[in-house]
Amino acid sequence: MCLVTVPGQTVTVSTFRTLHEPLEARRVVLGRSTHVDRILPHRTHRMIGAWCFLDHFGPDDVTSDGGMWVPPHPHAYLQTVTWLFEGQGLHTDSLGNRQLIRPGQLNVMTAGPGICHAEVTPEGAPDVLHGVQLWVALPDTVRNTVPPDFAHLADLPRRTGGGAEVTTFIGRLGGAVSPAPRFSLLVGAEIRLAPGAELALPLRTDFEHGLLIAAGNARVNGADGTPRAVTYLEPGTDHLTLANPDPEAPAVLLLIGGQPFEEEIVMWWNFVARSHEEIVELATRWNESDVPARFGQVEGFDGPRLLAPPLPTVRLKSRGRRA
Ligand code: MN
Repeated sequence: MCLVTVPGQTVTVSTFRTLHEPLEARRVVLGRSTHVDRILPHRTHRMIGAWCFLDHFGPDDVTSDGGMWVPPHPHAYLQTVTWLFEGQGLHTDSLGNRQLIRPGQLNVMTAGPGICHAEVTPEGAPDVLHGVQLWVALPDTVRNTVPPDFAHLADLPRRTGGGAEVTTFIGRLGGAVSPAPRFSLLVGAEIRLAPGAELALPLRTDFEHGLLIAAGNARVNGADGTPRAVTYLEPGTDHLTLANPDPEAPAVLLLIGGQPFEEEIVMWWNFVARSHEEIVELATRWNESDVPARFGQVEGFDGPRLLAPPLPTVRLKSRGRRA
């Protein structure tokens, strides 16, 4: 046992759990020129809690190519979570929302059975864009009944102390609770560490967690972290200790976690379904009409919407959280 501190409180922690190999990202090209690091779904760890998708983009200088340009596209049976470390984004959706997002703020869109949105870098945005796009799978019990919704949260619980800053954007962490809508037990937080800073946080032992090193470097529960990769922490891990070993550069980290998601899902294009037939239905409904009833329309977008690609020639299979 040892005593460690979180900003504003003291917690007692006990055993250290084995750390798995880091989950490395794979480079993916989106659209014409945007490169992202895709971490989830990972070959061995398809999900962490209900988190089923994690793209890490930037830091990129967006002055030459204009930055993010994602035309209207649909989603179903998931929540999209947008979190920026640097830069700005502009969200528009079929519910009529038009929302600028800045670092430290959360955009969370609940698709339910269908919604569509567009995300672009707005005119006049800062030169550098750096952030993450995540998806949360909706449980089967609510995915068809929860109404489509968009929430922007600019006032999130943030604790600072000892060179550490923790912003809890969804769920509960170390006593901080985010008001963001969620439909399973999960957590998401940004952690910033000044050079040399250390931090410890209590974790729920019924959760699995992943810690992304988005910028700089960190030691995670006593082991060297891998920049731009995710350190996986299995259920039973009761705490997280972090240290920024760099004497000059800050560390920017993303913590995600949740109760292991035991339902099998089919992820294809922008949908999280349960069967091949559901995917076919979703793609067909989106492609067949300029204003598909199920997904609606983003008004006023300057350009065509994205159509679903041809379906694979083999049947899509539902899969569990582990390979
Ligand atoms: Mn999207």
